[in-house]
Amino acid sequence: MSAYGYDAVVIGGGVSGIMASLTLASGGFKTALVSRGDPVCCLSTGCIDVFSHSDEPLSGIRALLPDHPYSLVGEKGIKDALSFFLEIMAEAGLPYEGDPGRNRKILTPIGSTKNTCLVPRTMAHADMPPGEYLHVISFQGIKDFFPSYITSRQRNSTYSVYDAGVPTTLGIAARFDDASFLDAFITWLRGLEIPHDRVALPAVLGTIDPASVMEKISRAIGRKVFEIPTLPPSVPGLRLFRALKRVLQSRGVHLYWGKGVTSVECQGRTVEAVTLATTGRAKRVQGKAFVLATGSFVSGGLFAGRDSVRETVFDLPVAVPGERKDWFNTDFFSGAHGIERAGVRVDGSFRPVETDLDNLFACGSILAECEIMSLQCGHGLAVATGVAAAKSCAQGLS
Ligand SMILES: Cc1cc2nc3c(=O)[nH]c(=O)nc-3n(C[C@H](O)[C@H](O)[C@H](O)COP(=O)(O)OP(=O)(O)OC[C@H]3O[C@@H](n4cnc5c(N)ncnc54)[C@H](O)[C@@H]3O)c2cc1C
Repeated sequence: MSAYGYDAVVIGGGVSGIMASLTLASGGFKTALVSRGDPVCCLSTGCIDVFSHSDEPLSGIRALLPDHPYSLVGEKGIKDALSFFLEIMAEAGLPYEGDPGRNRKILTPIGSTKNTCLVPRTMAHADMPPGEYLHVISFQGIKDFFPSYITSRQRNSTYSVYDAGVPTTLGIAARFDDASFLDAFITWLRGLEIPHDRVALPAVLGTIDPASVMEKISRAIGRKVFEIPTLPPSVPGLRLFRALKRVLQSRGVHLYWGKGVTSVECQGRTVEAVTLATTGRAKRVQGKAFVLATGSFVSGGLFAGRDSVRETVFDLPVAVPGERKDWFNTDFFSGAHGIERAGVRVDGSFRPVETDLDNLFACGSILAECEIMSLQCGHGLAVATGVAAAKSCAQGLS
């Protein structure tokens, strides 16, 4: 078995684990990130929901119970973590905009609007003032994007359809990376002589530098342009993940990607190493401290059996609300489901409680009491707790 040593080993490559790794690497700690696969953020809109339940995220968060992970981070910690995220995204060449004090609205593929907080620059013009006119561009054969739904719900809107030669969002986005395709599209768009104030497209404006593609289109037609996120596979979700991964590499975080942790070694109150499943020789990754960021049920950080929920790497105690009959509401759309509160409880330093491991921290959607779906706080909570857990870990290391 080959062995490697680090100051900190982060387990789980979602938004929380990546932000934890970047925080530790920025503090000068030799950091490894181990991930079994790509994270949930690849399925997301790419927008950072901080607390979409209310128009002012920070006011909403102030009203949460003291054991909610956001309450453990505190308002200043949340603001600092989101600023760090904005800085990272600017460095990655995928700039984001927004203010944690105020949510903005983005348009969905069925013409409704959704509250969110930080958005990629390509969605910055989605929050339209009332009375403005909108022209939607759709693509021949595209799935899960419904321009007629949008025009029926948005007053003062019309749409046109372009044939990109491929019907999938990922295929169209790859076409927009090609300058000659972009020029041909712009020529067609100018020919429409759109009188409307703004032009919206599904989120397909390239996989590499969508903000530049959007600005080029916007300059050519003299209109504000914005993207509408589509259903998974989601181009903005993939862009977010790939951009974060680029920064991890440029900041020297050592990646073990596509490798799950299969066992852990502890000595007394200390985690000493994890073993990774590989196709060849097993790898032993040693660390002075560990951050658990393996996500919730979707990514396999938690596993629900008939009557109990298990944490899958360290077998940590998992807080579960009531009995199985209390886990779900019979009406799926009726609001909070008890199971959303299941997870690993941590103290103010993001150390799991009811365990005697001193050098283990946890962050992200694996934490108890998150209620990510009902509060709509997925990536925001991952950013805030990822940074907070890493800061506590860094304190322990120094
Ligand atoms: C379909 C969908 C759409 C969403 N859309 C949005 C949105 O638009 N905006 C928003 O803010 N939030 C959204 N969310 C919520 C948000 O994506 C998540 O809450 C957040 O990204 C969770 O991040 P995380 O780091 O906690 O975990 P995850 O993203 O789940 O990452 C966990 C990682 O750990 C790895 N892992 C698991 N077990 C092991 C192991 N044994 N060894 C090594 N690695 C392991 C996994 O492979 C994975 O990469 C959405 C969620 C879903 C399901």
